[in-house]
Amino acid sequence: MSEAASNAGDEVSLPTVPYGEDYPEIRRSIQAICKDFPGEYWRDQESRKEHAAEFTAAMTESGYLSALIPEEYGGAGLPLRAGGVIFEEISAAGCSASNIRAQMYMMKMLIKHGTQAQKDKYLPGISSGKLRFQSFGVTEPTTGSDTLNLKTRAVRDGDHYVVNGQKIWTSRALNSDLMTLLVRTTPVNERAQRTDGLSVLLVDIRDSVGKGMTIRPIETMVNHQTNEIFYDNLRVPVENLIGVENKGFRIILDGMNSERILVAHESLGDCRYFIDKAVKYANDRVVFGHPIGKNQGIQFPIARAYAQYKAADLMVRTAAALFDAGLPCGEQANMARLLSSEAAWASGEECMQTHGGYSMAREYDIERKWRGARIQRIAPISTNLILAYIGHNVLGLPKSY
Ligand SMILES: Cc1cc2nc3c(=O)[nH]c(=O)nc-3n(C[C@H](O)[C@H](O)[C@H](O)COP(=O)(O)OP(=O)(O)OC[C@H]3O[C@@H](n4cnc5c(N)ncnc54)[C@H](O)[C@@H]3O)c2cc1C
Repeated sequence: MSEAASNAGDEVSLPTVPYGEDYPEIRRSIQAICKDFPGEYWRDQESRKEHAAEFTAAMTESGYLSALIPEEYGGAGLPLRAGGVIFEEISAAGCSASNIRAQMYMMKMLIKHGTQAQKDKYLPGISSGKLRFQSFGVTEPTTGSDTLNLKTRAVRDGDHYVVNGQKIWTSRALNSDLMTLLVRTTPVNERAQRTDGLSVLLVDIRDSVGKGMTIRPIETMVNHQTNEIFYDNLRVPVENLIGVENKGFRIILDGMNSERILVAHESLGDCRYFIDKAVKYANDRVVFGHPIGKNQGIQFPIARAYAQYKAADLMVRTAAALFDAGLPCGEQANMARLLSSEAAWASGEECMQTHGGYSMAREYDIERKWRGARIQRIAPISTNLILAYIGHNVLGLPKSY
């Protein structure tokens, strides 16, 4: 699909969707970096409950983590698709981007909605790797997916907001200097519209821990740094408000489209990892006198997973092209997320089945990647909420909430 698509009778011409291996140099560089971080590295990190500091350093030093930051602030000024390609290649190489990914999608929020002073203060440090901007606090224990009813409250007191409440699943807070925090600035019963009343604060974690912010790590089935965070009269300077007070939900939505598209690229990388591994093993493993891949019970599910991966790939490319052209992409970003996470899950499942008992052995790395692929169907957004988005916003079906 190399042609620019356009709908008959529609004056907006859609952007060209790249087909084939675009950004070949980036792909090759990421593959070269990832060669230094084989399966043993990730298994060792997991057994020691460490979070890939060497891998994060290598990605930061290479400049790829600041790929999306404009050149005037020290980044490469590349489009979202390039960021996606970076994440896809990391996943396809058997590595994990889960401890470094947030910087890229949060950057888009800061660049689009931040004040000039905020950009001047933070972006150069983030580009150079001196500042880690990896944490995003939205989800709360009592409201879960119901973001519009979250309760963590920020009340203005002079030139500060005073924050009280609790978040859960705030990832990477222990490995980050800065975070974005979604807070309620107008009580639910006083907001003008359902989507009003929330604001986005940029919080300096270094100044906050022990001064109103308490972080408690949560152990999970993957080696991913995530936390409960308690806010008890945390003071955040008003100058750290990103965008307009009470209009934070729209800012978060911008961040969410880029997050969905970037994380969808990771799932595509997972598909490639699982399918490559399954095909190699199916060709090599001989049982009953022939390679197991000759059996259609092994071959067809892998072929089906490949077809699912290719279909998801087209949707991910479409969503990224729309995003980069500045066009509405909520529908495509959500569908990219849905299809890619399901394709990764199907690919992981077939990789497991193909490897038989060996899939359970840690040294094969399949179970590690499989655990990672499972989470993609829950976080950053669960499959049902994507289906609800398509049902309500695209198809006009009634809302369940
Ligand atoms: C490893 C990990 C890392 C995370 N990192 C972050 C992070 O950095 N920052 C952050 O803010 N959050 C983070 N999250 C939270 C994540 O975004 C949420 O877990 C997710 O959005 C679902 O919220 P919940 O777990 O509260 O589920 P709930 O909202 O309680 O939902 C439970 C189930 O019910 C379904 N459901 C709920 N309502 C409906 C409905 N109306 N129709 C159909 N189905 C429905 C959901 O789809 C889900 O399957 C992380 C989670 C995990 C597991």
